[in-house]
Amino acid sequence: MYTVRKPPTLITENRDINQRFKMSNRTSSNHSSGKVTTPRIKVTLAVGGTNFVTEVATLKRHPNTVLASLDKTSQFYDTQTDSYVFDRDPLAFSAILNFYRTSELHLPLGICGRAMRHELKFWKISELNISQCCWKVMYEVDKDEKVFDTLKQNLERCDDPLNAQTSWRFRLYVFLERPNSSTAAKIWNTTLMTMIFLSALTLVISTIPSLRKRLVFPQPYNDEVERYLQNSTRLKYDLHVYYYVVDWLYAFDHVLLFIFTLEVSVRIMVSFNKRRFFSSFINWVDMITSYGGWLVFALETAYKYGMIKKTEELFWMYFGFRCVMMTRLLRCIRLQERYTSLKILLITIRKSSKELLLLVLCFIILAMLFGTVEYYCEFDNNRFETIPISIWWSIVTMTTVGYGDYYPESLCGYFVGTMCAMCGILFLSMPVALIGATFNDYYTRNQERELHRKEGLDGSLMKISPKLLKSKHQCFEKKTRH
Ligand SMILES: [Zn+2]
Repeated sequence: MYTVRKPPTLITENRDINQRFKMSNRTSSNHSSGKVTTPRIKVTLAVGGTNFVTEVATLKRHPNTVLASLDKTSQFYDTQTDSYVFDRDPLAFSAILNFYRTSELHLPLGICGRAMRHELKFWKISELNISQCCWKVMYEVDKDEKVFDTLKQNLERCDDPLNAQTSWRFRLYVFLERPNSSTAAKIWNTTLMTMIFLSALTLVISTIPSLRKRLVFPQPYNDEVERYLQNSTRLKYDLHVYYYVVDWLYAFDHVLLFIFTLEVSVRIMVSFNKRRFFSSFINWVDMITSYGGWLVFALETAYKYGMIKKTEELFWMYFGFRCVMMTRLLRCIRLQERYTSLKILLITIRKSSKELLLLVLCFIILAMLFGTVEYYCEFDNNRFETIPISIWWSIVTMTTVGYGDYYPESLCGYFVGTMCAMCGILFLSMPVALIGATFNDYYTRNQERELHRKEGLDGSLMKISPKLLKSKHQCFEKKTRH
């Protein structure tokens, strides 16, 4: 009997509460006029197992949100407990309920910005309500996410053709391009790097006069050269044109060149994605320094045996080639494949373009400003002949290098010099600090990433969430497409 009678009473009760709900609506709208006479109506919200008790009027403060539009017909109403049940995070909800109470939205301690975003989306509250003091927590996640994306793009490769994994070509490709893939690859990479370093070193020490010997040309050209050298004062020029690197150094350099040429040729042959190969800057450096080296070799040999005479134009052409050869030092950038921190340094520079621009802009403006002022301060003496010279002085002062080739003499000049040095320290260190912070961001995020990956490798693949598996699958698809 009792159970049969129960539903009608509940319905009437419901209707009663609904009416009161509507009444409280009216009272809350009258709130501003100060006439609050209706009794307070309590609402129980059960969120994620925690009960929150508040007043209807409080919830009505922010219309068009989920909580403001609650009534007994809503899907969240539980007739048994006379409360609204939500399967949401109670921690985030306490912050959200506080927003209704105080009209200020603060993030609870220890919540992730992204999780909060999901909660706000559910409760239909705009992110714009978040108080300034909590922006850092809220948006730092987005920044981190960007950093992780960049790291993923730059550090993870998805270009291996899976169907070719057993072929010798693939093995050779991995051996040459992935220094960390095996012990043999590591050893080869270390050897190669040592050779690159040695080849750069031969270029450097080849300018020491004791490591060069006089060339003997066919007669009568040799007599002409002899006469020229007796009166010449162009030491550097003569050293390059009429003297030659000693034989052992020359031979050693060319053995290295041969190995580099062989290496780059094999890499071109085994590369699966030619377009990617030729779009890499460092591969171009490799190719130019290797193949260009043989062009220089041909030129030098022809000259040595008197087949061509080294005129001034030829010298400058040869000189240009040597400068290009100097870029072989850039090959050391290939170390980045091995050392992630070096790669992160390069990513930081690429990603700090805004800060670098700020640095250059500050530098140019300040240099021109102080240079011009200094020029007019030293108007009476002839210390700074032109404004470009005084700009050079201000650059040297701002960077605290101070060669001392130009210096002010007047009192006004001293003052400007002091200001210039101080501004230099202040304005140039700030963008540098920003770039340092960016590097720190990338470096720390990468460390976290590596720890996470290690954890993933130790555990089973099944632990990965479906979303992550999907992204791995996309990577896989990309691989097969190439
Ligand atoms: Zn706050």
